[in-house]
Amino acid sequence: MSTTLNFKQELTGCFGQPVAENPTQVMMEAAYRHHGLDWRYLTIEVAPDDLAAAVAGARAMGFRGFNCTIPHKVAVIEHLDGMGESAAVMGAVNCVVRRGDQLIGENTDGKGFVKSLQDIVDPAGKRVLIFGAGGAARAIGVETALAGATHITIANRSRERGEELAALLNDKVPAEASFVPWDGPVAVPEGTDIVINATSIGLFPDVDARLGLDVDSLREGMVVADVIPNPPRTHLVRDAEERGCRVIDGLGMLVNQGTIGIQYWTGTDPDPTVMRQALEAVFG
Ligand code: NDP
Repeated sequence: MSTTLNFKQELTGCFGQPVAENPTQVMMEAAYRHHGLDWRYLTIEVAPDDLAAAVAGARAMGFRGFNCTIPHKVAVIEHLDGMGESAAVMGAVNCVVRRGDQLIGENTDGKGFVKSLQDIVDPAGKRVLIFGAGGAARAIGVETALAGATHITIANRSRERGEELAALLNDKVPAEASFVPWDGPVAVPEGTDIVINATSIGLFPDVDARLGLDVDSLREGMVVADVIPNPPRTHLVRDAEERGCRVIDGLGMLVNQGTIGIQYWTGTDPDPTVMRQALEAVFG
C-alpha cells in the first residue's frame, strides 16, 4: 500500500521489521474508521541504524505516537524524553505517546494482557505460572504483579534468561518469583491459579509445536492464557478447554494492547469488537 503523508491527518505508526500486511495496522485503522477518527496508522520499516533519525522524523512530522516492535523495543528508550512506570521497570517500550512536546515510552503488551485477564479473573492474590522469559513474559510478569498477583513461577528453556526475569520480579515488583528449569514436561505447581504461555511456541507457521507442559496437571477452573495470536486456537487453548479451564487467547491481548494505544493517542476508548473482527479477518 502506498501512503501519502497528509499533514491534516493525525499520524501514528509502527516502527519495526518489514511485514506484508501488518495485522496491527489493519486493526488500528478499523477502529479509526469505526469511530470517525481522521487518523492514519502507518507501518514503517526502520533499520536499527536509522532509529534515531526515524524518531526525530516522527517528532518533526507531529506523530501523536507509534508502536515499536523487535528490534527497537529497548533501543528506542535513549531517544525518548521519559518513561511510564511499568515500561521503566521492564526496560522495554512498545508504545510511544506524545504528551505535550515530549515523547514518552509506555508498554501496552502487559497492560493488554492484564485487561484480558481481568475480564475473567482478578489477578490480585493469585499464583501464576509463566512459560517464557522474553519480552512478552517480562511485560506480563511485571503487569500481573502490579495488578496484585502474589507469586509468579517462571519456566524457561534458557536458565540464565529465566533466572534473570525471576530476579527482576523479586527486585522491582511486589510479588514473590521463582524459576523452574524447563528441560522436560513441566507440571503445574500445586495451588497455581493462572497458567500462561508467553513463548513463541505455536505461532504460525509452526502451528503443531506443543508447549512442554504436563497437560494432565491442568485442573478444571484454572485460567489458561496463550499469547499466540495466529492461530488463536493453539494446542494449549484446546487442551485447556478440554480439561474445563477458562481460556484466554492471544487475540484478546493483541486487541487490548491496541485499545490502550488508541486511548493514549486519541483519548477515545475504541470498540474492541470491531478491532477483533478486523484481526480475525486478517488471520482467517
Ligand atoms: P522473545 O524472542 O523475546 O522471547 C521468546 C521466548 O520464547 C523465550 O522465552 C524463548 O526461550 C521462548 N522459546 C522460543 N522458542 C522456544 C522453544 N522451541 N522451546 C522453548 N522455549 C522457546 O519473544 P517475545 O517475548 O517478544 O514474544 C513471544 C511471543 O509472544 C511471540 O510469539 C509473539 O507473537 C507473542 N506476543 C503476542 C502479543 C499479543 O498481543 N498477543 C504481544 C507480544 C508478543 P529462550 O529464552 O530459551 O530462548
